[in-house]
Amino acid sequence: MKKPVGRLAPSPTGALHLGNARTFLLAWLSVRSRGGTLVLRVEDLDHPKVKPGAAAAALEDLRWLGLDWDEGPDAGGPHGPYVQSLRRASYRAALDALLAKGLAYPCTCSRRDVADAQSAPHGRDPHSLAYSGACRGRYASWDEAAAALPAGRVPAWRFRTPPGISSFDDVFLGRKELDLAGELGDFAFARDRDGAGYQLACTLDDAAMGVTEVLRGDDLVDATHCQLAIQAALGLPRPVYAHVPLVVAEDGRRLAKRHGDTRICALREAGLPPERVVGLLAWWSGLAPYGAETRPADLVRGFDLARVPRAPAVLDSRAKAIFATGGA
Ligand code: GLU
Ligand code: ZN
Repeated sequence: MKKPVGRLAPSPTGALHLGNARTFLLAWLSVRSRGGTLVLRVEDLDHPKVKPGAAAAALEDLRWLGLDWDEGPDAGGPHGPYVQSLRRASYRAALDALLAKGLAYPCTCSRRDVADAQSAPHGRDPHSLAYSGACRGRYASWDEAAAALPAGRVPAWRFRTPPGISSFDDVFLGRKELDLAGELGDFAFARDRDGAGYQLACTLDDAAMGVTEVLRGDDLVDATHCQLAIQAALGLPRPVYAHVPLVVAEDGRRLAKRHGDTRICALREAGLPPERVVGLLAWWSGLAPYGAETRPADLVRGFDLARVPRAPAVLDSRAKAIFATGGA
C-alpha cells in the first residue's frame, strides 16, 4: 500500500491552543502510524486576522509538543513554498481556469445580504440561506464589481455550484452527504482579486503538495464539500478525509478566551512539561489513561483512529486539573 501524505495546516491568526493541538496530534499520529510523510503548510491568507510572528510561534509550539514534519517552511521540500501568501500565482492560475470554464464570478453582496458563514472556513450558521446567485452574470470583471462597492469593501469570488448531492466517505464519520447547491448555493471561495482565499488555496495546495489524507476538525465538513466541487472542476485528485470532533468547553461551545487560557505557550510558560499536555490530548482521544505523561512518538505504535471518541472532547474540571497545578 502507498504510504499516506498528510498535512498540518496552522492558520497564524492566534496562538495554538489545546483544541488545535489535539487535532494536529491526531493528524500526525494517523500518518506516522502508517509510516507516511507530513507536510507543514502555513495558511496565512486570512487578512487582517493574521498576526505577525504567529506562524513561527505555532511551529515552535508544535515542536515543543513533540510533533515534527518532513516538509515545511523550515524543513524545505520539493513542493514549496509552504506558506500560502507566497503561492498567489498558483491561485491566480486556477482562478483563471475556473473563469475560463464559466465556473467563477465576482459577488458584491454583503455578508448581511446573504447569511454567508461559508466564506469563513469554519462552521455554518444553521439558519443561513443558500446564496441565491444574485450576482451570477452581473459583472464582467472583478474590477467592475469592486468599483460597485464603497471603499474598503471587497467582492467575493463565488463558485457556480452544480446541482446534485455532494458525498464522500469520511474515514472517521462515515458517509457524508450535502445538497451543496441547495444548502450553500454558490459558495464564496476567496475574497481576494487573485483568488487567494481559504477554499481555493487549501484545495490547490493539498493537490500540489501530494496530500493523500486530510485530517481536520469536524467544523470543516461543509468546507470539504466545497473543496470537492473545486477539485472536480479542476480535475484534481481527491484525498481521503477524516473529520474529528473539536475540543469544547463545558458549555458545549468551542474553546474561546472566556474558557480560560488554553494556549500551548501559556501552559509551557506555566512550567508544564510537554508530556503532560500531550497526555491530556491523548486522554481526550482515548489513547492514554487519565493523567498520563507521554510523548507523541510513544503513541504511534498501535494508533487507531477508530478508538477516538465520537463525542467532542470536553475541557471539564478533570481536564483542567491536569494543568491547573502548573509545573508542580
Ligand atoms: N488552517 C485551518 C485552521 O487552522 C485548517 C484548515 C484545514 O485543515 O483545511 O483552522
Ligand atoms: Zn452577490
